[in-house]
Amino acid sequence: MYIIKMKTIIYYLAIFAVSLASIGIIRLYSTNQPDASTIKVSEEASPTEVSESFGTRTDEVEVPIIMYHNIHKANESDSKYVISEADFENDLKFLSDNGYTTVVMQDLINFVQGKSSLPKKPVVLTFDDGYFNNCAYGFPLLQKYNSKAVISIIGYYTDQFTQSPDENPKYSHLTWDDIKELMKSGNIEFQNHSYNLHTTDKGRNGSKKKRSETLEEYKQLLTSDLQKLQEEFTQNTGYTPTTFTYPFGSVSEASFDIIKELGFQATLSCENKTNFLTHDPECLYMLNRFIRTPSVSVKDILH
Ligand SMILES: [Zn+2]
Repeated sequence: MYIIKMKTIIYYLAIFAVSLASIGIIRLYSTNQPDASTIKVSEEASPTEVSESFGTRTDEVEVPIIMYHNIHKANESDSKYVISEADFENDLKFLSDNGYTTVVMQDLINFVQGKSSLPKKPVVLTFDDGYFNNCAYGFPLLQKYNSKAVISIIGYYTDQFTQSPDENPKYSHLTWDDIKELMKSGNIEFQNHSYNLHTTDKGRNGSKKKRSETLEEYKQLLTSDLQKLQEEFTQNTGYTPTTFTYPFGSVSEASFDIIKELGFQATLSCENKTNFLTHDPECLYMLNRFIRTPSVSVKDILH
């Protein structure tokens, strides 16, 4: 009798154990079946994870950068720094017909930092000096072709023309109000071309170090000039430039550390060749640019 009872107890215990185990298995099985939301969360990776995945997909991306200055209504100047409105439209049309996508400096920085990818054929259109004609003739075309550009301003001229507005497409510079309006459009990104070092006065060649000055003197001069424009940008627009564009492409090695210490993540020079970007932040300094003259179109440059 006792043995029968024991067998019955063991029998029920066994059934109980099997039931527990199967619940466990079912639970285990169900947790191993990821639903769509689980997959999404795990793939929304942190910046480092994204960076690694981009790194394995592509090590180098070619990014040509074009340098413009003035756009006039017609071809009326001999200057290599002036092109016509029609020339600029032909460039935009060529880029659009040939699968290029215009990007700005923030796109390059995001790519290098692994935060986003770049389009298939990226190109950067840059305008130096901040002329009003960029707004009068360039901007409507950028909107028409859904394109973007980077304008590097000289702070001193922006302040002068803000104080005494004069919208002359031949010589005027953009005012802070123009800059704010253009920024709102999303087609234009602004950068720093020095506050007042765009000059060859007093033996200076842009932001290049003078032989006669000490490293400490140079550091003070460059820091106070570039910082002045950075602060004016922040006060007037709420935005702080990421990139320093060397005036006249005149570069001193002594400027490299100073510019990084000021927080600039990229610099633009004027060497007439293309760029290859990687995930090394150093590759954003001293980016090369092709000069677009009236006789050399973007088609000539990129073909
Ligand atoms: Zn310039």
